[in-house]
Amino acid sequence: MKTIFHLDLDAFFVSVERLFDPSLIGKPVILGGDPKKGRGIVTTCSYEARAYGLYSSMPIKTAYRLCPNGIYVRGRHKEYSKYSKAVREILEAYAPVIQQCSIDEFSMDFTGCERIYGSLFMFASKIQKEIIDKLGLPCSIGIGSNKTIAKIASDFNKPCGVTYVIPGMEKDFLAPMPVETIPGIGKVAKKMLNSKGFYKLEQISSLSPETLRRIFGKYGDYLWRKSHGLGSDEFHFDYLRKSISHETTFHHEGADTEYFERILFELAQDVCQQLRNKNWLASTVTVKIRNTRFCTITRDKKITPTDDDQLVFQTVINLFRKSYIPETELRLLGVKLSKFNYLTEQEDLFDNFPRKEMFKAVKRIRDKFGYKSIRVGFC
Ligand SMILES: [Mg+2]
Repeated sequence: MKTIFHLDLDAFFVSVERLFDPSLIGKPVILGGDPKKGRGIVTTCSYEARAYGLYSSMPIKTAYRLCPNGIYVRGRHKEYSKYSKAVREILEAYAPVIQQCSIDEFSMDFTGCERIYGSLFMFASKIQKEIIDKLGLPCSIGIGSNKTIAKIASDFNKPCGVTYVIPGMEKDFLAPMPVETIPGIGKVAKKMLNSKGFYKLEQISSLSPETLRRIFGKYGDYLWRKSHGLGSDEFHFDYLRKSISHETTFHHEGADTEYFERILFELAQDVCQQLRNKNWLASTVTVKIRNTRFCTITRDKKITPTDDDQLVFQTVINLFRKSYIPETELRLLGVKLSKFNYLTEQEDLFDNFPRKEMFKAVKRIRDKFGYKSIRVGFC
């Protein structure tokens, strides 16, 4: 039986903003797009703003209508990374095994550490206090027997909560919660479950796997496992590798834009396949362009973590079109993916199911008949 901690910084971006501008403390603070122009979404908002019904990913327009007197901030993103790193450094001093899930979430394996740290519940409070004292950032910690249950527990009593789900109590802990509590049950899955009359997890966990399979087909087993609080307790480190890239060198191929874009299409597919083989997601895409005078430019863009050819290719082509001067003869083109996350159970399995299945099929065909035997088209 493992003991996993999931630490989630409370309204992280807002907390950092408040370090720079204490006048924001106690007020509804909203980070994201420009409310006057009405473009963009809420990336984070303070608990005071949530009291007005605001939440992350809400259109900024709606947020402004609900909370016109809130303080709207654009955010200083470089500082967020710095503070995230500082939190990680504090945690690394204690956790024998640590996996960063996002800029403000960390999963840690403390199995067998009671002898060193005493009561792990008390120890979690000590970590919280240290992060507040040293960095001024509040966080919540969930403790459980696997990563999923620890994550749900970290969300249970926010802000500044510590929630310990005693092993064996997972199912009871989850029972009264809405179905969408489970990471991986997104909008589409929630709608589907609700339409069949399933709102709370106990409605699922009280049924046998056979019944669930009859109702949901192959999702039945997944739902049974999740509603019983089962989940992965494995940690992955190999994604510390820095990047995956692929380049093509030209020998007097002229200056045909369409040809170059076709090459980029191939390169994007290749790096995405490598990415999926490792079960990673990338959040930075880089394009490298070198002309025949050996002048090289690289352009990169941050994207929502993905392993999807289409998203990567769109980013690649946008970067290329911005930087390439038509009629220029090229020597080399390259595509690089970096800033990896491990594909976790948080991914929306249901909502992305058809594409995931397609990519699995593509991989099977490539394994059998070679990489070039199939191409992925875009719509
Ligand atoms: Mg957070």
